[in-house]
Amino acid sequence: MHLLVPLHNQFKTYIVNMIKITFPDGSVREYEQGVTGYQIAESISPALARNVVSCGVNGETVELNRPIMEDSTIALYKFEDEEGKHTFWHTSAHLLAEALQELYPGIQFGFGPAVENGFYYDVMPPEGVAISENDFPKIEAKMKELAKKNEAVVRKDISKADALKEFKADGQEYKCEHIDQDLEDGTITTYTQGAFTDLCRGPHLVSTGLIKAIKITSVAGAFWRGDAKREQLTRIYGITFPKQKMLDEYLVMLEEAKKRDHRKIGKEMELFMFSDRVGKGLPIWLPKGTDLRLRLQEMLRKIQKNYGYQEVITPHIGSKNLYVTSGHYAHYGKDSFQPIHTPEEDEEYMLKPMNCPHHCEIFANKPRSYKDLPLRIAEFGTVYRYEKSGELHGLTRVRSFTQDDAHIFCRPDQIKQEFERVMDIIHSVFSTFNFENVEAQISLRDPNDHEKYIGSDEVWAEAEQAIIDACKEKGLNAKVEYGEAAFYGPKLDFMVKDAIGRRWQLGTIQVDYNLPERFKLEYTAEDNTKKTPVMVHRAPFGSMERFTAVLIEHTAGKFPLWLTPEQVAILPISEKFVDYANKVKRYFDTVGVRASVDERNEKIGRKIRDNELKRIPYMLIVGEKEADEGLVSVRRQGAGDQGQMKMEEFAKQLLDEVATMLKATDIRPE
Ligand SMILES: [Zn+2]
Ligand SMILES: [Zn+2]
Repeated sequence: MHLLVPLHNQFKTYIVNMIKITFPDGSVREYEQGVTGYQIAESISPALARNVVSCGVNGETVELNRPIMEDSTIALYKFEDEEGKHTFWHTSAHLLAEALQELYPGIQFGFGPAVENGFYYDVMPPEGVAISENDFPKIEAKMKELAKKNEAVVRKDISKADALKEFKADGQEYKCEHIDQDLEDGTITTYTQGAFTDLCRGPHLVSTGLIKAIKITSVAGAFWRGDAKREQLTRIYGITFPKQKMLDEYLVMLEEAKKRDHRKIGKEMELFMFSDRVGKGLPIWLPKGTDLRLRLQEMLRKIQKNYGYQEVITPHIGSKNLYVTSGHYAHYGKDSFQPIHTPEEDEEYMLKPMNCPHHCEIFANKPRSYKDLPLRIAEFGTVYRYEKSGELHGLTRVRSFTQDDAHIFCRPDQIKQEFERVMDIIHSVFSTFNFENVEAQISLRDPNDHEKYIGSDEVWAEAEQAIIDACKEKGLNAKVEYGEAAFYGPKLDFMVKDAIGRRWQLGTIQVDYNLPERFKLEYTAEDNTKKTPVMVHRAPFGSMERFTAVLIEHTAGKFPLWLTPEQVAILPISEKFVDYANKVKRYFDTVGVRASVDERNEKIGRKIRDNELKRIPYMLIVGEKEADEGLVSVRRQGAGDQGQMKMEEFAKQLLDEVATMLKATDIRPE
């Protein structure tokens, strides 16, 4: 549609094109060409315009003042949205740099990205200057002062030559190296606020005034470009919010998170350990941790059995050729553990980075017919992936971990049913641990670029629809993301919120058209032709290590009664009653209650306190009356004294409680 608008004082007419803007709910409105995200927000409501921080135009996040020139889809992002946070924190990194430049003239800047919780900037302070925690208040104050000025953040396209000249004049060696080595002429943009200009692709806030609450959180050393052979820079971390209240809440959450740190609790409860002699990033599960892990595995095993999975065990290493066939070598080879050579035959083996290639060989082990499908192969498979030592973190970032892996080989028309079944399993796991607010993301192809994906349009469309339908059928609140699918198939990811509101990604279901083709897998179809099966990868826990870490932080180590390594501590009030305490324990052993006796010669008050620290759900205190009458005095963690009862009665009550907790795992396919 064209509107003819006479232009003031001129004899020609100026044509204003109208463009169609499509909103996430599918509704369409018309705006003048060149309209900005901010104007669109304003046209909807003033409140929205106040809170919007950036916008997604055709899937790309851009500034609110970027003119939109053609028919587009739009998403308006507030701070609460992930993309909005990213814009906000990214701009905050620039604000940090602006403050540092004022405070430490001559400072050099490396990279300054937004991260999961805030942002950082890598800097090289001027000679003789070290930035430490003591400087945080000063930096925060300067950032606040600058934010108050509400400076506009101005974008500029710049040629490579000019960019080099400009940053060289400022003495910014790292920026120059980055421009020189990584950037192509014609793609370079800078952003300026106040006296500070940064090399950046954006997007940013339109101005810095929205940044109201600022906290510099930590400082650490970081090698330039992560390269241990290069200079060590200073990495300054911070976080910002549009409201002081949000920062206050975040700091309370952070304190709570510190208390729940799985590395700390894992040590206190003797669940797992690391040893530099064994090797960095290689977790060692101690007896109690192993006990807990095996119980987790048993829980999943039981469900999987009901759902028709067959468990296998495959080696920890595989021939290099296996991973060349699977494509993993081309993808990860150079950045991974290097092949092991046999001394005589000069064969090459690799630590297993994935279980999938091994399972493909299991499928290929004998002829398969359509009647054999779906074939569901499960393995608690340990894999090895190289991570830089500086990036290792407790059980969440390790070099060796065990996936609760499974691969489903099926026909294309079985994808929906298989997704629904896996979703049942994942739902059962999540509800057993009281993870609420389960969110899901469906990752689909980029609608404008079907070239980069393997597999025909037809099979993709079928699989994508199957995932969407499966989510609808299961009533799952799933967000659809276009362009996020891997080149080999669409997927569904699950996120949970833990007890203190943090989001964790747990559980993935991934369709794969690539591996079956690479391994030339086939089955005989009903019409006697050979067809390629579809492969579905899935892992409800993700890995035993990561899931255990999340569980520790979610429960603060107070594991559910059914899972915890020690359910009951029996505390004799004096040495005289140790024999009776052991008699109670022996009885518990026979009925399957996990108990220990605190035989130490300590006062009962001390024993109670110590066992409380061990996060044992039940303490049973036994003295003369208990010993005479076969009783136990029950204390429940967090609920105090529960009175006396017969030991048999207590055991039955505990076992009933466990059975109730595990009800959600008692599922079978419909
Ligand atoms: Zn930037
Ligand atoms: Zn896999």
